[in-house]
Amino acid sequence: MSHIFGRSTRGQLPTAVGGDGCYLIDATGKRYLDGSGGAAVSCLGHSNARVRAALHLQVEQLAFAHTGFFTSDPAEELADRLVAAAPEGIDRVYLVSGGSEAVEAALKLARQYYMEIGQPQRHRVIARRQSYHGNTLGALAAGGNEWRRSQFAPLLVETTHISPCYEYRGRAEDESVEDYGLRVAGELEAEILRLGPETVMAFVAEPVVGATAGAVPAVEGYLKRIREICDQYGILLILDEVMCGMGRTGYLFACQEDGVSPDMITIAKGLGAGYQPIGALLVQGKIYDAIAAGSGFFQHGHTYMGHAMAAAAANAVLSEIEENDLLTRVRTQGDKLQAALQAQFGQHAHVGDVRGRGLFRGVELVADRDTKNPFDPSKKLHAKIKAAAFEAGLICYPMGGTIDGVNGDHVLIAPAFIIEDTQIDELVSKLSTAIDKALS
Ligand code: PMP
Repeated sequence: MSHIFGRSTRGQLPTAVGGDGCYLIDATGKRYLDGSGGAAVSCLGHSNARVRAALHLQVEQLAFAHTGFFTSDPAEELADRLVAAAPEGIDRVYLVSGGSEAVEAALKLARQYYMEIGQPQRHRVIARRQSYHGNTLGALAAGGNEWRRSQFAPLLVETTHISPCYEYRGRAEDESVEDYGLRVAGELEAEILRLGPETVMAFVAEPVVGATAGAVPAVEGYLKRIREICDQYGILLILDEVMCGMGRTGYLFACQEDGVSPDMITIAKGLGAGYQPIGALLVQGKIYDAIAAGSGFFQHGHTYMGHAMAAAAANAVLSEIEENDLLTRVRTQGDKLQAALQAQFGQHAHVGDVRGRGLFRGVELVADRDTKNPFDPSKKLHAKIKAAAFEAGLICYPMGGTIDGVNGDHVLIAPAFIIEDTQIDELVSKLSTAIDKALS
């Protein structure tokens, strides 16, 4: 309950009072290397000068004007910049205040689209097990984490779940990576046919699964096959890049590495980089056009959408990424991070897998490397790692295996794009100390 503020909160957790690049500082002056940026939020590190200046300037000019009455320069600029950088065909942007709002908007827009083009029977969503798409009721329905879903069932959006693309756990030893990708993508077609293609509205997936699986990337070819299947059955492909987008994988949008253009993309976290709450839904022109030609109005909206301060922060984030060539840096530093993790944990008796893309990495722990069996969930290894890392002055993002006990506990690592080589060493060394302490 520590994230419900008031009365008893102080004392349960350290009080964060400042930030300095890759470090967060608490009220006692202790410095923590921020190895996860919350969960992949603080992509520029803390106290970034450009974002601070942009926010100062914006608050002097205009903080808020309701989008029911006005547009604003920062919001228009942000939309134009996102469209210019997005995969082919994306040409509209819907600005919201966070990830769940972006996913929620995507689901409602998909539903309205099919209503307007005369296919009202399309209402079902297919997503993947071990995924997370947010905590509001629609987004929760799409998510495939049983533990989060179960206490709120029946959920609002009818969703069924297929296997994730999870090479470490899914690929058979004698199967090529390509065959594995095609086989697991084939589950989507089977599920569409089982449900009846004319009833399915959208397929939702994270190109690199974040919090619930620990930076698990789709293998090459998987998303391309998914795109083909969606096209074949007239189903919208929604890629949730709330965590893996905004440069985290070394591409502004993770799906650009996969060579795939979805119908919609959701982003948040790194868009505001922690300086402002903001999210966005990016949409293919055909969806916008259908609604414009029909009712002319997307039946949705939130008070703070297109907030000028939030958009100003996001514009400054994009400028930092562009002008400092941070995407190249994410790829270089990401390779170094992967190499350092591999060197440290490659032979570790209880590390089964080290994976990810760019500065988005995951370490999966197992009781036995040969069988890949996870530790008993009651051991709560992930919580012990989090505590030991914190004590050592490292913020990382450990999570338990899924409720069905299929996966091992894992640690998600998502440092700021500005991380230096010495800080990569510090991160890996502190993580190693924390893992060994938790295991002892
Ligand atoms: N989708 C994904 C992939 C996420 O990782 C998250 C947040 N962890 C969300 C959606 C929800 O975002 P928010 O917490 O900003 O509502």
